[in-house]
Amino acid sequence: MKCDYKINGGVVSLSSVHQAANAAVRNLLIDFGIVFEALVGNVLYTDSSTDRTVLLTDFNHRCCYCEKKLTIDTMEKDHLIPMNKTYVGLHAWGNLVPACHSCNSKKSGKEWMSFLLGKCGGKKGKVFTRRHNMIIDHVNKYGYDQLTTTNIRKISQLANDLHRDVVLSLNQIHDKYQRNMYKPFL
Ligand SMILES: [Zn+2]
Repeated sequence: MKCDYKINGGVVSLSSVHQAANAAVRNLLIDFGIVFEALVGNVLYTDSSTDRTVLLTDFNHRCCYCEKKLTIDTMEKDHLIPMNKTYVGLHAWGNLVPACHSCNSKKSGKEWMSFLLGKCGGKKGKVFTRRHNMIIDHVNKYGYDQLTTTNIRKISQLANDLHRDVVLSLNQIHDKYQRNMYKPFL
């Protein structure tokens, strides 16, 4: 398997294989989120203006990390626990928080508590406690704390299996087509 090669003029690289695998993991975590929300009795978050308003209200219309004022047009929804194979956060109300564009892009796939601590100057003082407690109240309000360690371990196993399978399958497909790429010119 070469690192990259050309098909139809485009470059198919190993990073695009991993991007596809990560996208598959995100979709799986959305599906698990749908099941989890049904189990805890939440109506699925749709990102409608109504849902955005509800989310903002929980945080006094402010970014949960820096407390910058937000509207339904300026807010970005962040998955508190990232939706990747490392952290396996679900797409669920209790895992969704409003963030400003700057915080959302800087936090990206990072762990939320250390990111929040960084936004509070690395000190667990009054500001950190206020923001931290607001987040925890939101998490508990929507029952996300009901997700057990065993649930997370099993979800993590499936997410990692899916990621491995997608990488394996796409590499096999790419290898197959790479073998035939000169055929149209023979
Ligand atoms: Zn912010």
